[in-house]
Amino acid sequence: MANPNPVLAGLRSRCGTCGEGKLFSRYLVFKDNCDVCGQDFSVADTADGPAFFAGFATLILLAPFYFMLPMMELPLWQTILGYLMIIAATFGLCLAMLPPLKGMLFNLQIRHKAEEAKFEDIGSP
Ligand SMILES: [Zn+2]
Repeated sequence: MANPNPVLAGLRSRCGTCGEGKLFSRYLVFKDNCDVCGQDFSVADTADGPAFFAGFATLILLAPFYFMLPMMELPLWQTILGYLMIIAATFGLCLAMLPPLKGMLFNLQIRHKAEEAKFEDIGSP
């Protein structure tokens, strides 16, 4: 597949250059390069971008439950059980969203040749 959509390929944890090679060797750890097309995976770094988006999406999805639970006047054991379920959902959602979001941001960085700002063109006064 030539020139795949970097967002869709990333969400499937596939290489954004060929759309077929796997991005990760294990959970959240990139391979050195693509097995199919040889794309170097050391040229980009997503840093904490995926964690921000995963946390933000989880907050939006689960915040209503965190607010509604104390207002429901449930017995204590049901309130505690409710909080445990919401906390488990919070961790589960974050951990499930991290690989596809990391793959997507990584593929977008490679596609758009994103890199740190370089200021060597700015002359000294
Ligand atoms: Zn590839």
